[in-house]
Amino acid sequence: MMFAGEHDIERAVAELASRLPDALRPLARVAFDYRWSWAEDGPAMFESIDPERWARCGHNPRRLLTETPDSMLVRAADNAGFTGWVERIAAELAFHRARPWPAGPISPEHPVAFCSCEFGIHGSLPIYAGGLGILAGDFLKEASDLALPMVGVGLMYRSGYFHQRIDVTGYQHEYWVDADPERLPCVKVTGDDGRPVSICVPVNEEDVTVHIWRVDVGRVPLYLLDTDLPENSQVGRWITSRLYDSTRAIRLAQYAVLGVGGVRALQALGISPGVYHLNEGHSALGVFELFKQVQAQSALSSGESSTHEAWQKVREQVVFTTHTPVPAGNETYQRAEVLEMLGRIADLAADREQFLAMGRLDPHNAGQPMGLTALALRTSRHANAVSQRHGQVARAMWQPLFPGCSLEQVPISHITNGVHVPTWLHGPMRQLLDRYLGEAWLTRADESATWAPVLEIPAGELWAARCAARRQLVDMIAHRATSDRLRRGEPLDYAKAPSSGFDPDRLTIGFARRLATYKRLHLVSLLPERALALIGGPRPVQFVFAGKAHPNDMDAKEVVRQVFALKRAPSVAGRAAFLEDYDIPLAGQLVGGCDVWVNLPRPPFEASGTSGMKSCLGGGLQLSVLDGWWAEAYDGSNGWAINSDVNADPGGDPLVQDQRDSRALFDLLEHEVVPMFHERDAEGVPQRWVAMMRQSLITHGPRFSASRMVKDYISQVYTR
Ligand SMILES: *Cc1c(COP(=O)(O)O)cnc(C)c1O
Repeated sequence: MMFAGEHDIERAVAELASRLPDALRPLARVAFDYRWSWAEDGPAMFESIDPERWARCGHNPRRLLTETPDSMLVRAADNAGFTGWVERIAAELAFHRARPWPAGPISPEHPVAFCSCEFGIHGSLPIYAGGLGILAGDFLKEASDLALPMVGVGLMYRSGYFHQRIDVTGYQHEYWVDADPERLPCVKVTGDDGRPVSICVPVNEEDVTVHIWRVDVGRVPLYLLDTDLPENSQVGRWITSRLYDSTRAIRLAQYAVLGVGGVRALQALGISPGVYHLNEGHSALGVFELFKQVQAQSALSSGESSTHEAWQKVREQVVFTTHTPVPAGNETYQRAEVLEMLGRIADLAADREQFLAMGRLDPHNAGQPMGLTALALRTSRHANAVSQRHGQVARAMWQPLFPGCSLEQVPISHITNGVHVPTWLHGPMRQLLDRYLGEAWLTRADESATWAPVLEIPAGELWAARCAARRQLVDMIAHRATSDRLRRGEPLDYAKAPSSGFDPDRLTIGFARRLATYKRLHLVSLLPERALALIGGPRPVQFVFAGKAHPNDMDAKEVVRQVFALKRAPSVAGRAAFLEDYDIPLAGQLVGGCDVWVNLPRPPFEASGTSGMKSCLGGGLQLSVLDGWWAEAYDGSNGWAINSDVNADPGGDPLVQDQRDSRALFDLLEHEVVPMFHERDAEGVPQRWVAMMRQSLITHGPRFSASRMVKDYISQVYTR
């Protein structure tokens, strides 16, 4: 079974191979399948060809192999150690590609179509913004590992999400870099006539032409839709330019291309999904195209079909995951906005009024806006939230859609998110676990028994791995903070402070995430005297921050500025750093190295959160508000919790809540975290700390792995 675009990949591989020395030719195939990125030493193999160029290419192997001078390639080909490495990685990849499909409810003839507006696969493919995308990327990788028949559907953003620079005043600036797909490890899918497969999506007055790129994520082909074509108008070309474009109408056009275009693209590629998984509501407009397909089919077979029956058939094919209760993640559009951009898509439905009504909370209230989440909930046979607590929140939030249902009856279940272990576990902790957890333990990462041997790892070894990971992180922080500051035009002594100030043996606390205001980075700077006392006290701690605010989110940008206001205090320069341009590679380094990972969401807005799960894998300990995944993960012995209940405050005043939670944060740090870190035995090992690390690894490791998550989707959602 081959999915469309296979020949295009083969052609591109052959072309790349033709410029490589014979011994390196297998690398061309490796370069065109992101599976190398989660093979244990795949990244190291490419890096060893030319470390500087590897960094300059943004860890993009197609570029590396294209741009490395012949002399260096020849040198690598003459190195028997290296060519053996190449053969091993290439063989591993071929083995995974050739594994048979397991018998199961999902067949390769009718795969799962996983539709998402962002995918966080790898740093070199800039089509993600944050947690939603990373989850989608981890999902595809895990599906590949499990040999689950799946294809991904997304958009090829030509300039992706923005890059971040902070100026000396702490103000965030954004810039965009064009990602040239011709230099990414992807190919444009062509048809039998050798021309690009092409579909149309009606947006406003224009029939927007769409081409399709294919990127291989292990066994899962990810199809990315692209409107940046000369045959389209300038606006049409702009549709797939930026992820979460600032203009509402452009976003609506993106949702049309992703949804309607996604369904049409799969049809054009000869793929007939058994189930469409809408990962968030952005792709929900595709249900209207499915509706039209169903009607066309039943018109052929039976001659007539009621609208109701047709929608029932659509529903049978669609499942939906809601990822956030935050309004910005549940966009709604007014009637006029919708009809202007999507008027001709509305005609796919029985009539325009029905089209609009399906996205309203109350279909009969023509004054209500149309929302993508409501549309997805109404047109899917199964809907779920992404943590136990988020399930409760989502049922309450969407109860109006299901009149007559009690809260418990609202048909939204939950499957808690998980993270792809081979992607997020590396360095010293990976090596340690590989030694103790047994052969091929990663294929059993969702079983408690797999993690049990963690209890037998000597405390000294766990601690040594932790310290080695922290040392790597501290080197990175010193280097990056210095270059950030030099670029910002800071005074030289401030720019140089991180390399002497950050200490590899010091308690290192991290906070890195998208800077939406509900994530409450500002709790760190709300009580500046306590923050400064921790940093400059007798047992100092060091802080590392990172995160991007959406370009239009002025409140979030203001929070960054508030945190920056602390930077002039003595001792802060060398013990706290905000690292610019948070992305997958930076996240990987931070979650792997920090001792404590802090999360301070305003409940109940953190649907799940996944960076904490990644941090657990590296032996990091969680200090988090009891919201999202932490509300079900925390057991009193595997981290620290802040109980933040809005209703505890008179009138539920968020400012009172913030003050209280900020005090709780510093109380925990001062009275529990710092003393525990410094309580050492004769060998210098903090026994209680290590005991908590063990507890964290064995309780979280199996539960919050992507294999547990994807298996839950298979048994509870995809299978009926
Ligand atoms: C994991 C990850 C996220 C999601 O983190 P949260 O804990 O959900 O805030 C966001 N961005 C990047 C780059 C990540 O790797």
